[in-house]
Amino acid sequence: MPAYEAVIGLETHVQVKTGSKMFCSCPNKYGEPPNTLVCPICMGFPGALPVPNKLAIRKTVEAGMLLNCEIAPYSKFDRKNYFYADMAKSFQLSQLDQPLCLGGRVRIGGKGFSGSDIPEREVRLNRIHLEEDVAKLSHKGNATTVDFNRCSLPLMEIVTEPDLRSADEVYCYLTNLKQILQYGDISDCDQEKGQMRCDVNVSVRPVGTSKFGTKAEIKNLNSIRAAHRAVEYEIWRQVKEIEAGGTIVQETRGWNDDTGESYSMRNKETVDDYRYFPEPDLMPIYLTDAYIEEIRSALPELPDQMRERFVREYGLTEYDAQVLTQEKALADYFNQAAKLVKTQKTLSNWIQTELLRELSAAGTTIEECPVTPKELAALVTMIEAGTINGKIGKVVFAEMFTSGKNAKTVVEEKGLIQVSDSGAIEGFVNQVIEQNPSQVEQYQSGNPKVIQFLVGQTMKLSKGKANPQMCLELLKKKLDA
Ligand code: ADP
Ligand code: MG
Ligand code: ZN
Repeated sequence: MPAYEAVIGLETHVQVKTGSKMFCSCPNKYGEPPNTLVCPICMGFPGALPVPNKLAIRKTVEAGMLLNCEIAPYSKFDRKNYFYADMAKSFQLSQLDQPLCLGGRVRIGGKGFSGSDIPEREVRLNRIHLEEDVAKLSHKGNATTVDFNRCSLPLMEIVTEPDLRSADEVYCYLTNLKQILQYGDISDCDQEKGQMRCDVNVSVRPVGTSKFGTKAEIKNLNSIRAAHRAVEYEIWRQVKEIEAGGTIVQETRGWNDDTGESYSMRNKETVDDYRYFPEPDLMPIYLTDAYIEEIRSALPELPDQMRERFVREYGLTEYDAQVLTQEKALADYFNQAAKLVKTQKTLSNWIQTELLRELSAAGTTIEECPVTPKELAALVTMIEAGTINGKIGKVVFAEMFTSGKNAKTVVEEKGLIQVSDSGAIEGFVNQVIEQNPSQVEQYQSGNPKVIQFLVGQTMKLSKGKANPQMCLELLKKKLDA
C-alpha cells in the first residue's frame, strides 16, 4: 500500500468588525431577536440601492497588509446569482475576478506556536475578497427558520493556495490567522458567534507524485477544532476509498460534529452556475496611493513583533513572551501594566503565576479581571520599593482579587507594610537567637545553611512583615561577631 500525502486549501470566512452592515445602515450586532435588524436594502426589496461600507473596505485592506497581500488599486463587486432561502434578493454581492487583496503569506509552525512540532514555513494566500454574509438558517425537525439579522454583514473570504499538508498544519494556520486578525482589530473571530467559519478543500495523492488528486470541499466548519477533525476524517475517508479501488468524486460535503463524519451534500457547482456579472448599482472601488499609505503607516503591532519587543526591551524569555501574546486581551493587559513598573520581568512572573492562577480558579477571563493592570503595577511597584515583601504581596494580591480593593488600601487596612526599621528587626533577631540555641550553635560550628531557618523564624515572629534581607544581614552580623 503506497503512503499518501494530503493536499489542503482553505477558504476562511471572517466577519469584519464594523458598526453597520455591508451595504445598508442596519447595525452589525449579534444576539438580537431574529429579523429585527433588517431594512429594504438587506431584504432585497425592488429598487433598493446598496451603499458600500467604508470601514469594511478599510479593514479588509488592513487585513491584506497584515497578511502580506498586494492591495489592488482597482476592485469591484459582482453579483453571484442563486436561489436559496438565506438570501432574499437571490444574489450575493461578492468579488469574483477583481478582489481587494491579492496573494499574501501566513507563517505556520516554529516559534510562537505551542502544541505541535510543525517546522516553520509559509502558506501562500491566493486572495482576500469582501462580500456580504447570508441569513442564518436553523433546522429543527422538519422545520427551518431563517434569521436575516446576519444577512449582509461584511464578510471577508481569505483563500489559501493548496499549500497545507496535514490537519495539524490547518490547525496552526487557522490559529495564527485568528491571532493576527484579532491583533489588527479586524474581527473578534468569536467562533461561538459564527464570526470565523471555514471550508476545507482536501485531496490525497501517493507520496512522491506531484499531480493533485480530486478534491472534496467540506463546508461551514465553525471552529478550528472542527476544521482539524474534519480534515483528519476526510483524509482517512479518501485513502480508504482509493485503497478499496474506488475513485474520489469532486463534491461538496457537510460535517456532522456529533458523529465526527463528513457526508455528501451535492456535486460541486462551477463558477458558471452562478451567472456572475458586475453589480450595476455600485461603482468600482479605486484606492488612491495616499489612502493605502495612510493605512500602512498606522498598522498595529502583530504578535511576532510584540514577542520580539518583549524579549529585546523587557528581557523576557521567548517562553514568557509567547504566553503573554497568545491572547490579545492578555497582551493588552501586560502592555498597560508594563509601562508603569521598573522590572517587567517581575510583572510577567506575577501575571503568569498569581494572576493566571486566580483567573482560572475563579473561572473568569482576563477581560473581567477584578484587578486592573494599573493596580497590579501598583502592587509590583510596592514590592520593588520594599514597602511590602513578595510573600506578603501574594496575600495582598489574593485579597485584591476577591474584594476588588486596590493594593494600597489592602496593605493599609491589614497593616502589612514591611518592617524595615532596624531597631524593630533587631528585637526579633535577639528573640530568635535566644530561643534557638542549638541552631545558633550549629551555625557557629560551621553549618551556614542553618541561617535560613533562623531567618524563617524571624520572619514568623514579625508575622511575615520583616524585610527578609535585613533579617539575614542582622543575624549574620550578630552570629559572626
Ligand atoms: P473551486 O473553483 O473548486 O472553488 P478553487 O481553485 O477556487 O476551486 O480553490 C478553492 C480552494 O481549494 C483553494 O483554497 C485551493 O487552494 C484549494 N484547492 C484547489 N485544488 C485543490 C486540490 N486538488 N486539493 C486540495 N485543495 C485544493
Ligand atoms: Mg469554494
Ligand atoms: Zn439593512
